[in-house]
Formats: sequence, structure tokens, C-alpha cells
Amino acid sequence: MLELFSKSKKKWEEIFKDVYDVARSALKNLVIQSTPPLPVFYEREFVEVAKSLKKDDLVMVATGDKALFEQKLLDTVHATRDSVYSARNILLDFEKEAEKCIGQIEQDLTGMREQLVRMDKEADIVFSKDADSIQTVNERFQNRLTDAISGMKKQEAVLDELRRHVRLDPLTNIYNRRSWDNDLNEMVMQALEDSGEQGPIAIIIADLDHFKKINDNHGHPVGDAVLKQFAGLLQEHFKGAGSVYRYGGEEFGIILTGMSGDAVMDIAGRFKDRLMRSCFTADRGRIRMKITASFGICEWKPSISKEMLVKAADDALYEAKRTGRNKIVAARTFQKAV
Ligand code: GH3
Ligand code: MG
Ligand code: MG
Repeated sequence: MLELFSKSKKKWEEIFKDVYDVARSALKNLVIQSTPPLPVFYEREFVEVAKSLKKDDLVMVATGDKALFEQKLLDTVHATRDSVYSARNILLDFEKEAEKCIGQIEQDLTGMREQLVRMDKEADIVFSKDADSIQTVNERFQNRLTDAISGMKKQEAVLDELRRHVRLDPLTNIYNRRSWDNDLNEMVMQALEDSGEQGPIAIIIADLDHFKKINDNHGHPVGDAVLKQFAGLLQEHFKGAGSVYRYGGEEFGIILTGMSGDAVMDIAGRFKDRLMRSCFTADRGRIRMKITASFGICEWKPSISKEMLVKAADDALYEAKRTGRNKIVAARTFQKAV
């Protein structure tokens, strides 16, 4: 029974039922045939009934029917072989299909790779062309920019030179009469606006004494050399205190800010003394001379205009000339003369 169960896929209940049915029918047949229920008869009848009922498993076990068993085994082997064959065929088909697919995929990949390489090369060509043209344009642009910048710098230099020419006196290289007028005007306007916050304003007009004689005795170029040296001395002396201008031929102006009347008189007095101590030279030192100058000073008050201020200083200068030269005369607002 165990053997039967191990070789059969049937469940225990079904096997027992089959055995019960066959055994019952066999016993019944023996009774009907009045055959004595001996094991040998019973076994023979069991096999017959099992055969008639097509219970092959029971026949096989009961008879030990090798042929039937082998037949069963063969059937199973065949069935298995068929299954294996069909499975193998399926696998072969699948393999073929897979090979086809792989081939197709490989073909597609190669195509894509070739396309990518082509695109890469084209991109390289396009990029290098573009890069070249961009670089060329850039270089041209940079060159133009450099040219433009250097052009602008030249223009600026020219403009600066022009401004210098406009503001400076070409002989003495100090501020000219135009600058004198402009600066004085601005300072007075500013002082009026801020009510004298920047401090007092004063002017000095200096005129070389008997300058005509220098020209007459030594020539105009020597006169020029003296004018240059005088301008240089003025600039040096008033540096940091005020601005120096060539007011006219041999007349000079100084604008002083933030200095009280006494301080102005003091700085002018020290210049006069310095001038008297100075030696003027020309013609490579062959001509040496002493010169003097006269000075008119006036301090600005909000009540007077720029023109009135200059006139007052001029009047003071005339007074210095009239009263002996080599003198500093302050306008009446100072009420002091040296
Ligand atoms: P005073 O003491 O009264 O001022 O006498 P001055 O001789 O200095 O004055 P005047 O006005 O009689 O003469 C001024 C001279 O200055 C006349 C002019 O030829 C000369 N002069 C003006 N500008 C220049 C210049 O740029 N160079 C030279 N060399 N001489 C000049
Ligand atoms: Mg003079
Ligand atoms: Mg003069």
C-alpha cells in the first residue's frame, strides 16, 4: 500500500476507496460464484475486478505486473520527453527571437554611436568655426577699443593742454588774467552765498618798479627772464597761502583766503623783504640785478563788489608808487600802510 501511495499521485482516501470497492466487488463475486474464499481465489478475483474497473495502480501492485508498470513508466518518460522537447523548442525559439532582438539592438546601437560621432565631429567643426569667428571679432573689437581708448587719452591730453593754455600765462607759467577774473569772481560769489564761512578774502596787486628801464637797458628777453623769476618767487612765497596770477604786463595778483588783514600785511611784507634780498639773473648769469616792487592790498567785505575790490587794491598800489615805490599800501579798509 505504501508502495502504491508513493508511486501514485492519489490521495489516501481515494486509494482506500479504490481498494475497498475492488475488494467488496471481488468478495461479492466469490459469493455469487459460490467459490470458497481462499486467499488464492480471492487474490485472483481482486485482480480481475481491478482490471475491469481500470484500477491500474491496484492491478500493478496486486500482480506485480512489471509489463504494465514499465508501460506506465514509458508513458511517463515519453510524456516527460515530449514536454522537454516542447520546452526546448520554446527555449530555442526564444533564443532565436532573443538573438534577433539582440542583433537588432546592437545594430541600432552601432547606428546611434555612428550618428553621435558624426554629430560630435560636426559640432566640433561648427564650434571651432564659431569660436574662430568670435575670436576674430573679439580681437578686432579689442583693437578698436584700444585705439578708441588711446584716442580718447590723446584727446584728453589735448584738452588738458588747452585748459592749461586757457588758464595759464605762457611766459611765466602761472595763472593768467582770465583765471584771475574767474577765480576772484567765484570766491566772492561763494563768500556771499555762505556768508563768509570760508574766512576772509584779500588780494594783493604787485607791480615791478621801473621795469621799463630793464627792457630799455638789457633788452626785452632779459625783461622776460626777470618776469619769469619774479613769478617763480611769488609762487614759492605764497604757496599754501594763496594763488598767484599774472595780472598784466609786469603786474601780478595774489588771492588769499582765510587770512586776516594783519596776516596779509605780514606775508606781503615778508615777500617785499625777500625780493629785496633776491638777485635776478639773465644771459646765463652774465646779467645780475636787484629789483623792487610796489604792492596794493585790499580785503574784501560783503558790502563791496569784485570790481570795487580790485579798484581799491589798484588805488592802493598807485598810492605806493606815488609815495616812493618799494612799498605796500593797504586800501582804506585796512587803514594801515607800510
Ligand atoms: P612803474 O614803476 O611806474 O611801474 O614803471 P614801469 O616802468 O614799471 O611801468 P611802465 O608802465 O612805464 O612800463 C611797463 C613796461 O613793462 C612796459 C612794457 O614794455 C613792459 N612789459 C610789459 N609786458 C612785458 C613782457 O611781457 N615782457 C617784457 N620784457 N616787457 C614787458
Ligand atoms: Mg611797473
Ligand atoms: Mg605796470
